Amino acid sequence: MTTSDTTTTGDEVAVNGRPLDEVRTSVLEAAKHMYERGLVEGTAGNVSGRVDDGTVVVTPSSLGYEEMALADLVQVDLDGHVVSGERSPTSEKIVHLAAYAAYPEVGGVVHCHARYASMYAVAHQAIPAAIDEFIVYIGGDVPCCSYHPSGSDELGPEVAKNLAERSAALMANHGLVAIGKSVDDALHSALVVEHNAQIFWGAKLLGEVVALPEKDQKNFTNVYRYIRDYTWMP
Ligand SMILES: [Zn+2]
Repeated sequence: MTTSDTTTTGDEVAVNGRPLDEVRTSVLEAAKHMYERGLVEGTAGNVSGRVDDGTVVVTPSSLGYEEMALADLVQVDLDGHVVSGERSPTSEKIVHLAAYAAYPEVGGVVHCHARYASMYAVAHQAIPAAIDEFIVYIGGDVPCCSYHPSGSDELGPEVAKNLAERSAALMANHGLVAIGKSVDDALHSALVVEHNAQIFWGAKLLGEVVALPEKDQKNFTNVYRYIRDYTWMP
């Protein structure tokens, strides 16, 4: 080993991961909860969580959530290679892995096709932060990424870029991606975005929508940044 190799090893970035069994249980529970809450239809959507060894547990491809069991989950490395599991990992794993690779503090990722959020994704419109608490959870308006087809090499980096200051981003003409300090937290982000999207959509039908005062938006954004920087890592 050369001197530079030693230096590199010492500089390894710590990541937010939890014990394998804990992650597997929370991924399965969140996947079933996502389905029960109507954030996806059929086998669409996917859930993942980061393990403390740097690998990621993801839901499998093309399997119904009601029948999904712990044995169906797949463990992959950040390059997408299967470490353990019998099934194929979700084909949308590149979006999850790009978020983990970009942000060491991320412990969980949820991708779903929630109805109201997806309407904004189809319209290529950001979802405005309509409710004050929303910014504390999500960081601000939910941006809409540029369109790239599912499975394309460009999709992962595009989504990851939009998650730098936010816990959620819209995939144009597709759906929603949400991140969190844990799998549960990522699911909570997805539910909060869908709730906010439905309220904003309805409020616009009532007439003029009143934005939050800029000063308060700024304060809430600072709170979000503080929470993400200082409380997400275990
Ligand atoms: Zn999808």
